[in-house]
Amino acid sequence: MTYKPFNSFEMAQSQFDSVAEVLSLDEGTRELLRYPLREYSFAIPIRLDDGNVRVFRGFRVQHNDARGPCKGGIRFHPLETLDTVRALAMWMTWKCAIVDIPLGGAKGGVVCDPHNLSMREQERICRGWVRQVAQNVGPAVDIPAPDVMTSAQHMLWILDEFESIKGARLPGSITGKPVGMGGSLGRTEATGFGVVFSVREALKELGIRVKDTTASVQGFGNVAQHAIQLYQQIGGTVTCVSSWDQDDKISYAFRKTNGINLEELLKITNRYGGIDKTKARDFGYELLAGDQWIEQDVDILIPAALEHQITEDNVGGISDKVKVVAEGANGPTTPGADAIIQKKGIFLIPDFLANAGGVICSYFEQVQSNMNYYWTKDDVLGRLDVKMTSAFVAVSELARKRNLSMRDAAYVIAVDRVAKACRDRGWV
Ligand code: GLU
Repeated sequence: MTYKPFNSFEMAQSQFDSVAEVLSLDEGTRELLRYPLREYSFAIPIRLDDGNVRVFRGFRVQHNDARGPCKGGIRFHPLETLDTVRALAMWMTWKCAIVDIPLGGAKGGVVCDPHNLSMREQERICRGWVRQVAQNVGPAVDIPAPDVMTSAQHMLWILDEFESIKGARLPGSITGKPVGMGGSLGRTEATGFGVVFSVREALKELGIRVKDTTASVQGFGNVAQHAIQLYQQIGGTVTCVSSWDQDDKISYAFRKTNGINLEELLKITNRYGGIDKTKARDFGYELLAGDQWIEQDVDILIPAALEHQITEDNVGGISDKVKVVAEGANGPTTPGADAIIQKKGIFLIPDFLANAGGVICSYFEQVQSNMNYYWTKDDVLGRLDVKMTSAFVAVSELARKRNLSMRDAAYVIAVDRVAKACRDRGWV
């Protein structure tokens, strides 16, 4: 399949168009799945702590709900756009389908920079966001969750406002809630752990032992931190991690060739995954330019930050030693770079498979919230492993059988499931 590079939404559409060709989807189904079912774009006026009012832009895009209520996170980011949210919503549809959970795809966002907002201001944004979409979300319609720069606390504010509007306790209407307030044990770890479950399976297929491998990670937010935690627990060594520096407005890579110490780094990291570079130097880390994370002589690359990070401009810097790329972020690899990675014979685990652990655990959280009965952490993580592993095996079997890349194989399975649900409902 050939994908053309564009902005995120055009990239998502072009990926879909290629798979629609392979599946010989009819025109109606293509037309339906190329675009979101519904999208909301709105203003969120907030009184700042200094008494002034500022108006933030908010979005919620519901791509498809044929397989179940829409599901997906909310991002807070200064460069958020409606097109990015559209792409992310579409990728959520494929993500829920590939791991076979009964949910559709959605995404939300607010154009804001949490670094420059107090927690009280962020609380008002959360409440303002949900007031705008309260009639169009809920347990049976669309269930938000955390994503870039949003946390369990943000989810609880959104839930509290939503429940006040509805006049009922509805814990199943949002996931990623704090444990003890309807949240699930293991949800915080789930995305990062899921990435590592898929890395473990890839290495198994390649006949490589985890303890013989090294990795370089882009980003040091929730996904990266927990991926590093589990990868090191099962014997791998992370030699390099990159992180955004809010003072200098650029990212840096932190290298320790005999292995970074996660606990040590966490002590000098802010809530948005920013590592204090002065303290890191004191701890003996080599400070490199942020884009150096991709050029490390490692076996595994884990982009776990934002979209559009591995491009035709920097893909050439990937070392010949690299055997696996696991996409912890959504949309980190542009189509042009993707083709080059494939040509190099690197085993790439595509985003909507590799990072599906978060939404799988969100689904478990919803089930627990609806039953009002909560499982143990081992139970949650054990079920997560089973779901991730079986999805991985199904994709890799198809990839081998039909001589497809892992991304193409994952797309074939996911889009086929969603198209079938649309047909079965009589929509197309
Ligand atoms: N934001 C996460 C993702 O991109 C999780 C979504 C969810 O749990 O609904 O997959």
